[in-house]
Amino acid sequence: MASKDDFQRTITYGDSALSYIKSNSLPAFPRNYELWYSYASGFNLSLNRSINKILSRDGKISEEETEKIYNRFLSPNRLGDRIDEVGDKIASEVRHLAERLDQGNIVTEEYAERLKKALSELNLITDQNELQRLIIELMRVTTQTADCNRDLRAELLNSRRQIGVLQEGLEAIRYESMTDELTTLHNRKHFDKSLDKHVKEARDSKVPLAVLLSDIDHFKQFNDNFGHQTGDQVLRLVALAVKKNMKGSDIACRYGGEEFGIILPRTSEEDALDIAEQIRRSVISKELVKRSTGENLGRITISIGVAFFRSEDTPMSIVNRADKALYAAKRAGRNQVKPELEEPERLPVAAST
Ligand code: GH3
Ligand code: MG
Ligand code: MG
Repeated sequence: MASKDDFQRTITYGDSALSYIKSNSLPAFPRNYELWYSYASGFNLSLNRSINKILSRDGKISEEETEKIYNRFLSPNRLGDRIDEVGDKIASEVRHLAERLDQGNIVTEEYAERLKKALSELNLITDQNELQRLIIELMRVTTQTADCNRDLRAELLNSRRQIGVLQEGLEAIRYESMTDELTTLHNRKHFDKSLDKHVKEARDSKVPLAVLLSDIDHFKQFNDNFGHQTGDQVLRLVALAVKKNMKGSDIACRYGGEEFGIILPRTSEEDALDIAEQIRRSVISKELVKRSTGENLGRITISIGVAFFRSEDTPMSIVNRADKALYAAKRAGRNQVKPELEEPERLPVAAST
């Protein structure tokens, strides 16, 4: 059930979305509403930056521009479309290259033919004029071929540059599809993929693996007291504290709203608990001060549950144990790290008489 603060916050975003739509004289279609709702919430930084750029340049935004921004940042197919677009461009670049190389080959072959022919003509030449004509002709085809090769070389270089740009584009798309925009940690999709891989590795190679789940304590209250935008800044700060304690092949992800999931491949139980404890301490060590007003917001704490790989584990079972440990940490008073719960002890079997 939605809480009262969710109700209040979302209604405020909704009201702002409608007033943006009205002030820009745009139709209140659902997708326009979605766009301006996202804008009002401020969750999608790049989207806000793009809109603000147009607004500060033109003072208003057209329907066409809103559609473009929607397609770029919100359309469910945007990544797929962009991948297709880059793929098409690479295919057309390669096709063009192959054609040009064919042409280059033809020119070189024709040149070789012409030289061979010149060699046989040389045997038949009887006077100086004919020789001079042949030399002039050979100089002409040589220059022509050299020009052609020079053009081809320039085109090849240009193609190499174009393909490099396209490759960077693909890399950016890959990064974006696996990254959480607010915190720049990996996103949930990346967490799921990586955990699959590392559970397999732990099973096959008998190496240890630990999973940490952390959740900010009383974060709802924090948002209520200081506002959602400040809450977002705190999320970034916690993400930074997590990141600071990662090394090697550790994987830190934003698992959900204010929950972080951390995968520690090839890490012993003792080291995993140490890392969790360091993260907890990094978070509480920061005194939060609102930059705009200098207001002191106190400190924030997190609780962490830690689970260790067992040979029968699936990604789901290890996460479930980390989740249970997290809730044990909450129940025990928060601001603490709890390892996964011990199996309930077996009751002693009553001695038979
Ligand atoms: P607990 O100590 O039991 O974890 O208490 P809590 O208030 O943190 O409870 P819970 O974890 O269930 O609450 C999650 C709250 O986190 C709800 C929402 O207000 C806040 N939250 C979730 N995602 C975001 C986000 O992206 N930004 C901000 N600012 N707040 C978020
Ligand atoms: Mg939570
Ligand atoms: Mg919480």
